[in-house]
Amino acid sequence: MSRNIKTIADVVRWRLCTGCGACAPVCPVQNIRLVDVPTEGIRPRIEDPLRCGSCTACLEVCPGYELDYSAHRSRPGIVPELAPAFGPVLDIWEGHARDPAIRYAGSSGGALTALGLYGLEQLGMHGVLHIGADPADPVRNRTGLSRTREELMAKTGSRYAPASACDSLHLIEAAPAPCVFVGQPAEVAALQKARRLRPLLDQRVGLMLSFFCAGSPSTQGTVDLLKTLGIDAAQLGSLRYRGNSWPGSFAATLKGRTDPAQRLSYRESWAFLQRYRPYGAHLWPDDTGEAADISCGDPWYEDPKAGAIGSSLVVARTEAGRRAVRGAMAAGYLDLTPAEPWKLVKSQENLTRKRRAIAGRRLAFRAFGLPLTRLKGFPLVRLWLGLPPRDQFKSVFGTARRILQRKYYRATFDSPPRRTALGGLLVRREVWTVSLRAMLIGLLAAGSLGFAGIRGLYPFLAITSRVPADVLVVDGWLPTYALAQAAAEYQRGHYRTVLAVRGVYPFDSADLDRPIDDYVADILVRHGVPRERLSSVLFPGLQRDRTYYSALAVRQWFRERRLPLRALNLATAAGHARRSRLLYRDAFGSGVAIGVIGLPDPNYDGRHWWRSSEGVREILFEAVAYVYVRLLFSPLHSPRGYSTSTPTS
Ligand SMILES: Cc1cc2nc3c(=O)[nH]c(=O)nc-3n(C[C@H](O)[C@H](O)[C@H](O)COP(=O)(O)OP(=O)(O)OC[C@H]3O[C@@H](n4cnc5c(N)ncnc54)[C@H](O)[C@@H]3O)c2cc1C
Ligand code: SF4
Ligand code: SF4
Repeated sequence: MSRNIKTIADVVRWRLCTGCGACAPVCPVQNIRLVDVPTEGIRPRIEDPLRCGSCTACLEVCPGYELDYSAHRSRPGIVPELAPAFGPVLDIWEGHARDPAIRYAGSSGGALTALGLYGLEQLGMHGVLHIGADPADPVRNRTGLSRTREELMAKTGSRYAPASACDSLHLIEAAPAPCVFVGQPAEVAALQKARRLRPLLDQRVGLMLSFFCAGSPSTQGTVDLLKTLGIDAAQLGSLRYRGNSWPGSFAATLKGRTDPAQRLSYRESWAFLQRYRPYGAHLWPDDTGEAADISCGDPWYEDPKAGAIGSSLVVARTEAGRRAVRGAMAAGYLDLTPAEPWKLVKSQENLTRKRRAIAGRRLAFRAFGLPLTRLKGFPLVRLWLGLPPRDQFKSVFGTARRILQRKYYRATFDSPPRRTALGGLLVRREVWTVSLRAMLIGLLAAGSLGFAGIRGLYPFLAITSRVPADVLVVDGWLPTYALAQAAAEYQRGHYRTVLAVRGVYPFDSADLDRPIDDYVADILVRHGVPRERLSSVLFPGLQRDRTYYSALAVRQWFRERRLPLRALNLATAAGHARRSRLLYRDAFGSGVAIGVIGLPDPNYDGRHWWRSSEGVREILFEAVAYVYVRLLFSPLHSPRGYSTSTPTS
């Protein structure tokens, strides 16, 4: 099966469909049926591909196929520091509908409903196209044109289930006057594309409203949640996910009843439902409704207080949006005050975290040769490059793992039928083979990943992370320059005890039970460590796992003296630091806090370790050794002779 996107069927097969529904009303021959796939969301089916001919209307409006936001980036008056994460932002306000009933029923502060009502009553809009629960099947949603306050009120509150507000764009097109549209970010993006294709629709859209949206869970999510609450979806009379206070609760009411049979807090229900979001939601780049005139979100910058009534964050993205917000305030529909940008940033940390990871996720999809939504005007690579190397790594390899685990490298439903011949003895199969382009992309991806990995290796291994401690343990294998640095660490800290720990080999001719002439201690003393604070800890030199056994020797030293030990800092070679800390933690267990000071080697520059043979030797060796310790390390034999400490004076 081709991995090129040529039709909306391909958009669906490769999980790029957002379920916006815009393809159905723009089809000139009504050839598209929207179906709720319970585990995915609402998806289009082309009834008869032969009727399509050279038409591409559905693909042209499809936001899962292509999304171009470049025009938004140059909009005059936008807040530049918010643009990379939030797109165009002209003004931010916080507040709520002035009408207390709308405020109470609304998802956050009822701002969207109040703006819709303002459009109807003051701007002469014909109706508000938006979704609400299907009264015949409240697990599902239905799109409708609200023309009165009561109809608007019936659709308040966020619905965490598939909805396709664009499936009824024909109602806007047929309206005698402009309408308000309310939809998820992908739906507004689709509407914007459809407006370019259909001039009449363009004239009839008066105001585009959206909201921040982390993605819609599938219908299966709601069905399973109801099941865990002991409710049969078929017996449901009404279902609210939120609203009726802030942030409100999931409330399921049975047919013929008025009081909910079951309630669940917003946090509990969202924690359950969010796992049912289709994977496409994790690749979708616009979670804050950048294409709308106004988008609203939750003010999560502070935790909701018990009994609180809601308010919304309201973001004006276009001049038309700004005028509508100001008009609604002046006409008494909204009570808003300007909000500082940090409130927006703090409220939506999850959404921005996701946006920063998208370029890495897309890289993983590309490496598998999988199709992606074509994007323009999103600074995703810049955002990704700003992530710490660890998160960059996670975004790529975590996604690659998911692709393999969940078999995303295969197309989803709608696969062609299996063909057999000779009574089933022969099966016709398509065979995938790697194209030159894919090989080049793979090589490029591997090269960039390799380089990112190389750059990140030294900062990963060579950590310095002190804990408050009065014990400094010095790795006795350190060369003289590093011992001098360890002595400097003593001067910097408030250490009462310094232990120089090293293994003694047979050729050292040292007796573990007797003081020896210890050159390590001598160097430390020479660089300012008082001899009375210093002890040597010696242990039998072993062929392997010496760091681990040195940790055991230090532990034994404290036990023999019955000295309490809560924390220590270990001074060791920079490249060795992370591995040493891991092994010391293993040896001491959770009761002792272990800090580590990585002492850099002046023979090479850690930031460019690959440029010198010393750096390559040490860092590659340490990287392999760290992986070994992480995956395979277990102490093979019990060390002997651990009462091995010798005072230095
Ligand atoms: C699936 C989903 C995920 C969300 N994720 C976030 C998030 O991560 N962060 C955040 O701050 N806010 C999120 N929200 C938005 C938030 O819950 C509020 O909707 C927003 O603050 C507007 O509140 P309001 O009181 O002004 O809306 P109301 O005045 O209550 O109006 C809600 C409007 O949204 C429409 N609507 C409800 N559900 C849907 C739906 N599924 N699809 C299309 N239209 C719908 C209704 O038709 C109504 O017009 C999410 C909402 C949904 C539906
Ligand atoms: S290609 Fe044209 S005719 Fe075919 S389904 Fe899409 S919009 Fe309809
Ligand atoms: S237009 Fe919307 S519903 Fe249709 S295929 Fe594209 S994303 Fe899916």
